Parts: sequence; C-alpha cells; structure tokens
Amino acid sequence: MTHIEGGGLSTKTDKSQLNINFKKNMKYTNLDKMLETEPPQFNFDNSFARDLEGFFVPCEASKVPSPSMVIFNEPLAEELQLSASRLQTPLGAEIFSGNLLPNGATPLAQAYAGHQFGNFSPQLGDGRALLLGEIIDTQGRRQDLQLKGSGRTPFSRSGDGKAGLGPVLREYLISEAMHALGVPTTRSLAAVTTGETIFRETGMPGAVLTRISASHLRVGTFEFFAARGKTDMVRRLADYAISRHYPETLDTENPYLEFFRAVSRAQIKLISHWMRIGFIHGVMNTDNTAISGQTIDYGPCAFIDEYNPETVFSSIDLQGRYAFGNQSSILMWNLMRLADTLVPLIHVDKDRSIGILTDEIRNFRSEYDEIFFEQMRAKIGLNNEEDGDDDLVQDLLTAMQTDEADFTLTFRGLSDATLGDNSGVLQQFQNTASYEAWETKWLSRLEREPTPPSKRAAAMNKVNPIYIPRNHKVEEALSEAIEHGSLTLFEKILSLVSAPFEEIPGEEIYTKPAPETSLPYKTFCGT
Ligand code: AMP
Ligand code: MG
Repeated sequence: MTHIEGGGLSTKTDKSQLNINFKKNMKYTNLDKMLETEPPQFNFDNSFARDLEGFFVPCEASKVPSPSMVIFNEPLAEELQLSASRLQTPLGAEIFSGNLLPNGATPLAQAYAGHQFGNFSPQLGDGRALLLGEIIDTQGRRQDLQLKGSGRTPFSRSGDGKAGLGPVLREYLISEAMHALGVPTTRSLAAVTTGETIFRETGMPGAVLTRISASHLRVGTFEFFAARGKTDMVRRLADYAISRHYPETLDTENPYLEFFRAVSRAQIKLISHWMRIGFIHGVMNTDNTAISGQTIDYGPCAFIDEYNPETVFSSIDLQGRYAFGNQSSILMWNLMRLADTLVPLIHVDKDRSIGILTDEIRNFRSEYDEIFFEQMRAKIGLNNEEDGDDDLVQDLLTAMQTDEADFTLTFRGLSDATLGDNSGVLQQFQNTASYEAWETKWLSRLEREPTPPSKRAAAMNKVNPIYIPRNHKVEEALSEAIEHGSLTLFEKILSLVSAPFEEIPGEEIYTKPAPETSLPYKTFCGT
C-alpha cells in the first residue's frame, strides 16, 4: 500500500500496478473458455493517470467471490462505444465487479480533501472507488469509468471499501432519472452483486456500481493540495481542469479567474436545476461538488413531495444544513472554498486576489436568481419576461407551502389548468383559496403571452415531469430487489422515470406521493 505522507501523497507510483493487463487478471477466474475470442474493447485514454501523478494512488480492486450482473445500461454502453452484447454477460459481471481488468485500464484511487458539514477533512479520497480510466464517447466527450464499492484503498480509513445493493440500485435509479429530467449528472452503466454480504445497520448483498462521469474532479480535489500549501500542484490541477472542462477560458486575460467563473456558472445552473424539480442532494460537502457541474454522489438524496423549503431527509443532517431551501446558499459557501484554493493563482498580490474573487462571489446570488426564475417561469408557462413574474412564481410557492401541495403534481397540473381544468391542481391544496387567488392573477398574466393555450400546455408538460422517483416507491422496489431478488418493480420505475414527461395511462400509482404516515421519510448516506 502506498504510504501517504502528511505533506501530500507520495508521487512515487508503482509501475507494476499500472497497466495491469487483461491476461494477467484472467488467472483469477475460469473464464478462459469465454475468452477464446478477443476480449471486449474499451478505448481507454487515461489523461488523469498520465498528467496528474501525485493526485492518486494506483490500486487494484478486491476480488469478489461470485459476481452477477443485476442491471446494465445498454444505451449508455452504446454511447461509450462498448459492446453491450459482450458485456451484459457473466464476463461483464467479472469486469464490472473489479475481478477482471479490461485492457488499457489504469486503476487508481483519487486523492481529495473536503469540507463536510462545514468542517475540513484534509484527507478523504476514494475510499471505496477506483477510476479505471477514461473513454471518449460517440459525441467526443471524455468520460470517467469508475467502480464504486470495489474494496479498500489507501483512503478507506476504517471503512470496508464496499457498497450495498440497496444504495447501488438507488444511485442507479436516481442518477438515470436525473439524466432524463435534463439535469447534468453522473450516470450508471452497470450494477453487479459480488456474492458477499456486507454489514451496515443490517447485512445486505454487496454490490458494485459502475459510474460514468465527465470527471471526478471536485472542489475537494483542489482543497487537497491547497491545504498543504502546494500551489504548484493546485496550478497543475487547475491547468488540467481547464483543458478538460473549460478550454475556452485559456484564451482569456486571467484563465484561472475565468475558470472560477465557469465552474461557478456550471454549479449555479446545476443547483437551479435541482430546485426546479424538487431534488435534495442531502450531502453538499465540497468533496461532492463536481468541477464539471454534474450532480455527483447519490447518497441520502431524495425528491420532495409536499413543497417545504425546510425539508431534510438525511438522517445525519441534524441541523438542516442541506435542507431543500438552503441549497443555493450552500453552493455559494462551497464556491468560496474553491475560491480559497485559487487565491495564489489569480493575482500575485494576495489581497488583490481576494478582492477580485470576493467581487465575483457577490454577483452569484443575482446570477442564480436569474437562472432559477427563468426555469421557473417556463414551469408556469411564461415565455416573455415581465416585471412581477418572479413574484408570481414566488407567490405560487408560498401558497404551495402553506397548503402542503405536492411539488411535482402541482406544476404538472398547471398545464390542464391553462386549458380550463384545474381539478388536478386543486386536489393538491389543503385549502384552495390562496391557490385560486393566485390562479386568477396567473391566467390574466397568461393573456399577455403570444403562445396559444394548447401549445403552451404541451410546452409546460415538457418541463414539468409527471414521474419522479417517489420515495416510498423507490423503497418498495429496493426491498423487493434485496429481499426477494426481484427487479420487476425496480425496472418498472426505471422505465417511467427514464421518460418522466410522458404520461402513461394506468400508471397513476407511480405519480402519487406517499400515503400519510406518522414517521417522516429518512434517508441514509448509503456508505
Ligand atoms: P461519501 O459520503 O460517499 O461522499 O464519502 C465520503 C468519504 O468517505 C469518501 O472519502 C469516501 O471514499 C469514504 N467512504 C464512504 N464509504 C466508505 C466505505 N464503505 N469504505 C471506505 N471509505 C468510504
Ligand atoms: Mg463523496
């Protein structure tokens, strides 16, 4: 195991652990027969391993006793130019459990630090994940292929390095739902069980998720070397991140400042996407804040049902730091932590640098409001922008909160309301008076819109989903998978949330919020 020194990671890499080839790993299994043909091709091009020595530890996955494919994402495999027919097989299960390493993979655990619930941890890192490498997809995008739950690494601390089937399937389902909802996100290529039992609150089947991501660079990756005073390493990382994600900033007067602006814009957009669909991430630590602007790390996340900005599902978020309505403020805080790391790169004079970054951050609230309200105006059918529109959005949210209206169904119901049938919306409100007063104002505002009502209703149904992963339904599907080994319900929900704007007759039960219970819904970090 590579020793990690206080001053940072040892930059010595053990070459024998890199470029481990497929043949060597075949020794671990009895797949020789299957491999009489060519092994499946992965067109790896591993820039992180090549360019960022010192930011990772080469590492192998733990071998597992009996991998079995639970679910495989064929359309995503095609995008990655991977052969679904070769990989949706026992051989694929061996590969995506970490038992077999595909040609060209350079498995490694990435180093990062992070502020967790406001407290700084100088060393987190991939404690249960391995980056196998990067693949250029059919659209020319560079995509990380990462195994999550593949065993201990030098960053595991006291953890077992494993993941359970419940959290793995949950991440698979919710990340795919987010993608279909138009939200930037990591995706899920495969979930396999390992044949092991892992222990959390109870025993559960061990599993590995294959996660696809624009990269796994996080704010916490910058914090790792910034905290150790290694500006040259922070600069190397920034140069890498610029060339990978924001190459357009290179040709500007101050590329590092433009880089900061670009990351901030991407994150501001991301959080406004979350807010338009009612998504609570639940653990917005800086190590879970991606430089690419994708949603990453589906732990205790969940969708709100009745609208209340104070909603918290995570069992460990006791203070409500990551409550639904706090997400944009927390983002500002996380961006300040990124700014801290860039201070030495922005200007030679530290105070000037801090001044420049502070001015940037001051603009973020209005940038966020602009994007958020633009998205929300579309949800209530407004194309043109008039003074007072943002208040109109806010007034609806206030009425929804007061009368405990379901977030998703209220917005979805508005398209029918524009066509004269408001019965679906009215059902969402405990007391309909404030909604009805709002509706009168809204309908008169809509008269000043050029779009004809039928077109408007169709456009609204393209931004207001009918299907989200409803918490109680997700729980039902996961129990069925874990306790009975059946994926019927999981696949049903997956198919609905993969086309979340298209209403399917007969599937009403998947649109409804959970029946009232005495216990509030709680989520767990899934570690
Ligand atoms: P997360 O809460 O998933 O964002 O993880 C926070 C940190 O804890 C990261 O450094 C993870 O790699 C590490 N971690 C989480 N679960 C485990 C586990 N079961 N074994 C080892 N490390 C873990
Ligand atoms: Mg994380």
